[in-house]
Amino acid sequence: MTVRTRIAPSPTGLLHIGGARTALFNWLYSRHHGGEFYLRIEDTDRARSTDAATQVILDGLEWLGLHHDGQTVFQSAREPRHVEIAHEMLARGAAYRCWLSQDEIKAMREQAAAEGRSTLIRSPWRDRDPSEAPAGINPVIRLRAPREGETVVHDLVQGEVRVANTTLDDMIILRSDATATYLHAVVVDDHDMAITHVIRGDDHLTNTFRQAQIYDAMGWERPKFAHIPLIHGADGAKLSKRHGAVSVLEFREQGFLPEAVCNYLLRLGWGHGDAEILSMDEATALFDLGGVGRGASRMDYAKLTHTNGVWIRRADDARLARDVLARLHGRPGLRLDATAEQRIAGLMPVLKERAKTLVDLADATSFLAHTLPLPLEPKAAALLTDEAKSRLRGLAAALADCDFTREGCDAALRSYAESIGEKLGTIAQPLRAALTGSPVSPPIDATLAALGRDESLARIAAVTA
Ligand code: GLU
Repeated sequence: MTVRTRIAPSPTGLLHIGGARTALFNWLYSRHHGGEFYLRIEDTDRARSTDAATQVILDGLEWLGLHHDGQTVFQSAREPRHVEIAHEMLARGAAYRCWLSQDEIKAMREQAAAEGRSTLIRSPWRDRDPSEAPAGINPVIRLRAPREGETVVHDLVQGEVRVANTTLDDMIILRSDATATYLHAVVVDDHDMAITHVIRGDDHLTNTFRQAQIYDAMGWERPKFAHIPLIHGADGAKLSKRHGAVSVLEFREQGFLPEAVCNYLLRLGWGHGDAEILSMDEATALFDLGGVGRGASRMDYAKLTHTNGVWIRRADDARLARDVLARLHGRPGLRLDATAEQRIAGLMPVLKERAKTLVDLADATSFLAHTLPLPLEPKAAALLTDEAKSRLRGLAAALADCDFTREGCDAALRSYAESIGEKLGTIAQPLRAALTGSPVSPPIDATLAALGRDESLARIAAVTA
């Protein structure tokens, strides 16, 4: 049997980090088993389901590298099929038309409230002859749910979960306007898509009993279910915007690498010994549902940031430079050409040692792309005294014919400092101001080498002229 998983997000305008983790677990589970992973957009709520909202989901998954097999399935396009199955259930006697009026339902609710219990709709139409139906009312279709025994689900994360059938009522599968209810549509779609494993948030666990009843009523084999605990904030409440970023694309904007987000999400609720840093290939080889914990996970932004730093250090310098260049677009005074990209890539090995996010890297490298004259921070301007400028002129001559590597520049700086009887710092600080416009920068020899001889000399000339 080929493992087939899916995610079924509703287009709400964002891909929530919890949804991304569900996608990751489904993706890993199918990849681990050499199976397939599908995407179904649950867009039956027409008012909310815009193309833009769907695109946000597609972009988020694409960025995370969670590619799905086959075409994207749109639930709205499958509405006729949902109706068809509801009618098939009628024909099998597994469902019935119900003409219960709103007033009758209200009375049932009031009686339940008076007796201090939750409402169970017990429709008389379950057994009543449809020929007695009132005229002019469109009926709903209800599932003829079992009244005896239990509905039992063997959940791959939660273990065996069961509910007494007396506590469930006959749910509506088709509304009076002939549209399918959500629970019914999901079952029909998962069946038709031949989904073998439904891995989703445990907020859907209670839905599962009802969905299991629909499978049983149709005589369809149920998929295996795995309900994973939700992600909470540090305070234990369900993760929401007030805790910090929750949308996948927001993490991208904040300078996180997709492999860091995936790695962090993997470890959030799944463990394999004490392995912390795992590539997607390693995770694919190891992933199993047995490693998913039952307790809610807590989002730890600091840990995500730390994980991001690890992945930045592992990332290819040219790739980081391309990303950083894209982030610098729109900032004033920059020339974002191939030369800038080359300089940024050149300084990357030094910069990425300490960077936590790509935004940090963009901030730290923007000076490399700046056109002249550089804006000077006040503390940098203060370093450029007349005496410092005259030393910089002397230094420029030394730099004009040294080997312009990091080591060559370092040697030239040291021997120049020695020749005028000054400490290296006395030379390096004004040089830093001239090259970067700031009193702080990456190591000065690395900065020189990244800028190259011509640009370094031009920057010195610009402040000493
Ligand atoms: N559409 C549901 C959601 O966005 C998912 C349903 C499911 O996975 O069965 O939460």
